[in-house]
Amino acid sequence: MNFKSIRVRVTAAILMCAVVGVVLFEAFWLPRLNSMLTETQTSELQKGITILSEGLLPYLVSNQIGAVYETLQNVEAQYPDWVQVSLSRPDGGQLYPLEPLSELQGDYLFTESMAISLRGEDLAVLSVVADFGPQLQYFQNEQIRIFFIGMIIVALILFANIYLVDRLITRRILMVTEAADELADGNYDAVLPSGPDEVGLLAKSFCLMRDRIRDQTAKLDAARVRAELALEARSRFLATMSHEIRTPLNGIIPVAELLRHSKLEPSQFEKVDIIVKSGKALSAIVNDILDVSMLAGGKLTIQKVEFSPNELVAEALEVVRSTAEHKGLKIVNAFNAPADIRLHGDNSRIRQVLINLLGNAIKFTESGTITLKGFAKPKPNGHIPLHFEVIDTGIGIPDDAVSRIFERFEQVDGSIERRFGGTGLGLSIVKDLMDAMEGRVSVTSRIGQGSTFTLDLELEAITTPPVPKAESGIEPLSYSDHRTALIVDDNGINRTVGSAILTKLGYKAELAENGVVGVSKAQDKKFDVILMDMHMPEMDGLIATQKIRETDGPNAQTKIIALTASVQAEDIEKCRTAGMDDFLSKPINIKNLTTMLSDCS
Ligand code: ADP
Repeated sequence: MNFKSIRVRVTAAILMCAVVGVVLFEAFWLPRLNSMLTETQTSELQKGITILSEGLLPYLVSNQIGAVYETLQNVEAQYPDWVQVSLSRPDGGQLYPLEPLSELQGDYLFTESMAISLRGEDLAVLSVVADFGPQLQYFQNEQIRIFFIGMIIVALILFANIYLVDRLITRRILMVTEAADELADGNYDAVLPSGPDEVGLLAKSFCLMRDRIRDQTAKLDAARVRAELALEARSRFLATMSHEIRTPLNGIIPVAELLRHSKLEPSQFEKVDIIVKSGKALSAIVNDILDVSMLAGGKLTIQKVEFSPNELVAEALEVVRSTAEHKGLKIVNAFNAPADIRLHGDNSRIRQVLINLLGNAIKFTESGTITLKGFAKPKPNGHIPLHFEVIDTGIGIPDDAVSRIFERFEQVDGSIERRFGGTGLGLSIVKDLMDAMEGRVSVTSRIGQGSTFTLDLELEAITTPPVPKAESGIEPLSYSDHRTALIVDDNGINRTVGSAILTKLGYKAELAENGVVGVSKAQDKKFDVILMDMHMPEMDGLIATQKIRETDGPNAQTKIIALTASVQAEDIEKCRTAGMDDFLSKPINIKNLTTMLSDCS
């Protein structure tokens, strides 16, 4: 039974009142009634004896004993509850009845005596024994009857009350409760109780509130749809913009890199080096913008691949080393993990986070040391906490800015922005990526003494033996004969750039300006590798790849590398589904391409 329910509580209260009433009736009112009845009977008895005495007096004075007898016999016959009437002389001699008096027994026997006297002289003593038992018995039977009738009336009132409470209050409140539950499930049309009473007023207020919620929800839904469309449009715009910027960058960075590796005068090398570095800086900004748009649109997916944390740290430090050394900063690798340890996680995102933090440390440090400290210590449950600290001896961050710098577009202040440059996106991307990997990033800093950015992650350990990796470099790969490649791309510059890089890497490249031409060339001749652009007129790279894989031609098993300016996770997935083996984003990173080519048959 639910004692919180109004129905149960009201029933219990009414029952308790009834029980208390009955107990009070039995305990106080009945004994009082009994004693009142006894008093009345006694007083009646006294009156009767007085009248009888007065009636007997003349007979006693005139010594008419026969009349006395007759009177007393009549009285006995007339009052059946007078069980014994006796008359005795003052000296104790019995006048009536003639036979000796018997000893009477009973709970309710009352005896009253009265002397009959004339001018102070007692003539006789009249005694009456009355039995109140039958009267009281009758009265008690009546009480029991009244009690039961009372109980029935109380029960009827009880049920009537329960019914009314149920109908007027409980059921109607339950209707409001159900309507509230329905409202929580998005149903605004549940029936509500009506009426002028309190529950009716409650239902009316609820109805008003429900209408307001309906209106607000409709407005919020419309606003959400607008916001989602705007976000979608913004993401599309950013993706298109980054695609459009990447395409010309592909004509700048790889070509400049090739040029930098050719024979150049020192002054020419310096200028080409500036083009490469500026191109890469621009490419990093475009990547940041694309990451922000993907994170905002919830499109970023975290990959899980096998990697060595030691190699990851070495790679991240390698990327920033030359910039640091150029500034005269010392780079210290204090990362400590067992040499053979390998983890399962998104190594490229962790590398991106580390490079970002190291890049900031270098940017905001004029002199001193940049230390990458940390550890990966296996736990008994097979998980490995991965801890990194990027410590610099730079300008530091004021206390009031520490909480803001992880927000998008936040920088400590305008003067720092002017002095060091930057978009204010880096740390927000770091924070979002760490959140996506269920990790944490934090910072401690002292102005003028430096900052420490701390990363904490927990990854799974890999227990199977490592897969040997091919070395990568931008030196020509040593093949005994010329290897062949097919480049399928609608953009002339991209074809030229791809061809120049592949030639540098020891390949002979054939070119196709769209998917149709690419598929036809792939039917005629076997290639060692095919670089396939994704977006092309006539036939795109996905369909072209499917066709090459489906037909039983010479390139059904050839490695196909997707080459595109779109780097969203869903694009990578589409490429894999179409049958492509690898994915290379534009602008082409020659080292990455070399690594991919190293395992081509
Ligand atoms: P930005 O592109 O401006 O570097 P970030 O999001 O990477 O954007 O950093 C935000 C701000 O945090 C920076 O502008 C800088 O003021 C501060 N900051 C980040 N890292 C450091 C650091 N290692 N030392 C001092 N200040 C830093």
